[in-house]
Amino acid sequence: MNGSADRILRIFDLVLALLGLVVLAPFWLVRALLALMGTGRVFDRTLVLGRDRRSFLRLNFAGPWLGRNLAALFNILRGDLAIAGPRPLTAAEAVAVPPAAEIRFGVRPGLFSPYQLQQRTGIAYDSESELDRRFVEQQSVGTSLGLIVRSLIAGWVGGGKALPILPQLDFFGVPIVNTTMTEAVDWIAVRATQAPNLCSTEKQEKALLAFVNPDCLNIAYTHDRYRSVLQQAARVLPDGIGIKVGCRIRGLGLAANVNGTDLFPRLCERAARDGFSLFLLGARPGIAEQVAKNMQARYPGLRIAGLQHGYFEPDEEDAIMARINTSGAGVLLVAFGVPRQELWLADHQAILRPPVCMGVGGLFDFYSGRIPRAPLWLREIGLEWTWRLIQEPGRMWRRYLLGNPLFLYRVWKQDRGKVKS
Ligand code: UDP
Repeated sequence: MNGSADRILRIFDLVLALLGLVVLAPFWLVRALLALMGTGRVFDRTLVLGRDRRSFLRLNFAGPWLGRNLAALFNILRGDLAIAGPRPLTAAEAVAVPPAAEIRFGVRPGLFSPYQLQQRTGIAYDSESELDRRFVEQQSVGTSLGLIVRSLIAGWVGGGKALPILPQLDFFGVPIVNTTMTEAVDWIAVRATQAPNLCSTEKQEKALLAFVNPDCLNIAYTHDRYRSVLQQAARVLPDGIGIKVGCRIRGLGLAANVNGTDLFPRLCERAARDGFSLFLLGARPGIAEQVAKNMQARYPGLRIAGLQHGYFEPDEEDAIMARINTSGAGVLLVAFGVPRQELWLADHQAILRPPVCMGVGGLFDFYSGRIPRAPLWLREIGLEWTWRLIQEPGRMWRRYLLGNPLFLYRVWKQDRGKVKS
């Protein structure tokens, strides 16, 4: 970063920090007093690395109460911290920073960081170093301000507090695996690299995988067969900010928002690397072909074992399943929409040979380019659903405007043991 850009950023930080200090002065004083009375000291100090790996003491108000971070305004005024930037690391954490991300030490670390932003809404799939590197390369007053605003909204939507993460969640009797994106892709890859021809019902276990968002769980709440298919699936993964908010109502944390749309490119990358292939079934004619083309261009070496649109006649079904079974696909992705895709997979599980079969909803429409996906900034603040609502208001208003509050209400009720669980 050149000298004048650096000075402008410093002025920006000073103005915001002074403004914050003036506006928050009463709260600041009360919080300092609370710390003193509750713990016998005002500040907690942590030794961390700043710009050019110079150490400084990062201040927090002592005690577990709200507003711990406010003490960092001092660090900002002193010039140790910026408001937006890579998270200040301890010396032990800094050892793990790869040389490609060394650029993160060329700027002041920040009170709000790109990685912490994505963690708040459960979409921090890439490494922290990578996100820091990308942020620092484009850092300006505009990008810093954007990060601050998004962090404040994401903190409100997704919650800033770390909550206990249990390995499994339960919403209305549907067990959901609480895992990370990396583990979810590993899990699929391990199974998909099994020889598909060995994968008859008797010899090896085949895995049915489903993603659920609040709309799916609302359906499962009243649709007994769908709920039972989800209960018997090898894995159900959490899709969307609604599940995170549902977890918060229960005082629990969500490890990550492991939705199909974010998982798909990572699965393609892994399939290209590990050599297993994908069969794409579903969506309108021509869509799966376009998805295959786009993903093969992005991940050279990716093998698409077969393609089939989702508007076939019932009498074509046997031939389609025969095609899937002889294709050697490691993963079958079915995009018929919820709950049809899961019911179809459960009905044909005994016949289908791919080691992993999963329902993916409208995913092909996104990756074919037919429907544009919400921009990253909207996903970072947990409002991807508003994008879907604007795109297809006629179809989506019920799902989001009625479905989201209904889901949260049911979670709240379930938590109090007043409804079936
Ligand atoms: N679809 C299909 N066959 C059908 C009905 C729907 O292949 O008979 C496809 C449709 O083209 C779309 C997907 O299923 O690509 C469902 O998308 P939606 O956004 O409704 O999925 P969800 O919201 O359930 O994830």
